[in-house]
Order: sequence, then C-alpha cells, then structure tokens
Amino acid sequence: MENGLVIVNTGNGKGKTTAALGLGLRAVGHGMKVLMLQFIKGAWLTGELCAAKRLEPDFKIVQLGQGFVKTQKNEHSKETIENARISWDYAKQEIFSDLYDTIILDEINNMIDYGLLNVKDVISVLKERPKRLHVILTGRNANDKIIELADMVTEMREIKHHYKKGVNAQKGIEF
Ligand code: ATP
Ligand code: MG
Repeated sequence: MENGLVIVNTGNGKGKTTAALGLGLRAVGHGMKVLMLQFIKGAWLTGELCAAKRLEPDFKIVQLGQGFVKTQKNEHSKETIENARISWDYAKQEIFSDLYDTIILDEINNMIDYGLLNVKDVISVLKERPKRLHVILTGRNANDKIIELADMVTEMREIKHHYKKGVNAQKGIEF
C-alpha cells in the first residue's frame, strides 16, 4: 500500500485527540502499527496511555512534552525550545524508521502555532515520509500551509462544553 494520508484534526471543539486515537484503534484492529507522539504532555496519566499499554507493541504512545504552560506566543524558555527541538528530532527519526503504518502527532498544530516548530520543516518531513505512512496532526489553529498539504482536514467546532458551566475534567472524558 502506497497511499498514506495526511489527516488534520483542528478547531476549538472537543475530539481532536480522541478522533485520532479512534483511528489508531481501528488501524490496530487490522494488525497495523500505530505510534502516537504527544508533544504537549497532559497533566494526567491518561486513559489512552494505559489502554495503549494493553495493545503494545501495536499501539505505542510516547509523551514527549514537558507539560509546559503557554505564556505568550513566540516567547518561550530555553528549556521549552530545547524540548521542542528534541521532540521533533525524535518524531523525525520515528517517521523515517518505516516501522509504523500510522503516526499521530498530537498537539503538533499548537507547537507550530506557538512558534516552537517551523512549519516548513514539518512540511518537508511530511512530503518525504514513507509513502505508505498515514500521519494525523492534531491541535488547535492548524497552520494554513499544513491545511493546504493535507488530504483530509476536520474542524471540531465547539457548540457547548461542560467546562463552561464549571464541570471539572473527569476520567474517561477529558483524560
Ligand atoms: P480530546 O483529547 O478530548 O479529544 P481535544 O484534543 O479536541 O480533546 P484539546 O484542546 O487537546 O482538545 O484539550 C484537551 C482536553 O481538555 C479536552 O478533553 C477538552 O474537553 C478539555 N478542555 C479544552 N479546553 C478546556 C477549557 N478551557 N477548560 C477545561 N477543559 C478544557
Ligand atoms: Mg488534544
């Protein structure tokens, strides 16, 4: 199979990461190998991390982020910039390893939006990746150039979210 897709899940509504995980689950069911790289580590030990452990080595999730808090766009500490560089180097290595059928780059859109990754670098890696590899990019504010390159782009749009009436993040829903 030589028809890997570039898929983007973006927008301000819920479901970007979980839709990517859903595709990962679907692929694993076909004996495909899936890797999810989380660029911005969540605050919690997530359900998907524990669930993927049960599906190893077919479904692997690696948390690369330092769980940084966004301050101002394009204003980041040395540690954050260095972490982004190391994370991207790791991602490139995995993309070109040709070990996977699907790679999910979780919250990479935010990394580009924050100025922590160069969109041109990301695009050249996407263009040169193994032909069969599906890549799913998630996160808000997907870059126009990424959208242009992608085969499928879905915008999750918030209509209502329970956090607005003060319902806290809870297991099985947010993490
Ligand atoms: P999910 O991981 O559930 O698919 P997502 O990837 O679309 O969501 P993110 O922007 O990555 O959404 O946010 C991660 C989680 O944080 C989501 O589960 C979302 O419901 C929750 N969330 C997003 N914005 C807020 C907010 N302002 N306050 C509280 N929770 C929020
Ligand atoms: Mg997400």
